[in-house]
Amino acid sequence: MKPERIQMTRKKGQHWKPTDGITIICDRRGPFGNPFLTAQDFRRWHQGENLPAACRAPQFIGMYDFELAIVRQWQRDHLEQLAEADYAACWCPADSPLCHLVVFKELLAVAARSPAPQQPAAGLGE
Ligand SMILES: [Zn+2]
Repeated sequence: MKPERIQMTRKKGQHWKPTDGITIICDRRGPFGNPFLTAQDFRRWHQGENLPAACRAPQFIGMYDFELAIVRQWQRDHLEQLAEADYAACWCPADSPLCHLVVFKELLAVAARSPAPQQPAAGLGE
């Protein structure tokens, strides 16, 4: 199931980014990053829990819960974008069960089983 997980590296001379297909970088610089320190907390957060600030990665500690909730909603609303990508890149080893990409894969599997309802055509009922 797409996307394939790949590991980024800063090692000189190693080109981690595939030359074919679409790669989405899923580290904390971007909106698909994990605001928490662990994938387990990332999973709990996506299940709706509000976790204490101590569970967060340093760059997210100062955020309000509602700001993080916006990030969570954005991630859920853009799962399809991940599904359409060929590769999802993180710093974790591509086979690590401790990477938040595992959680995205779980969310994608759930979304694939229950497709989103059709949106009504724009302009109708307004
Ligand atoms: Zn990772």
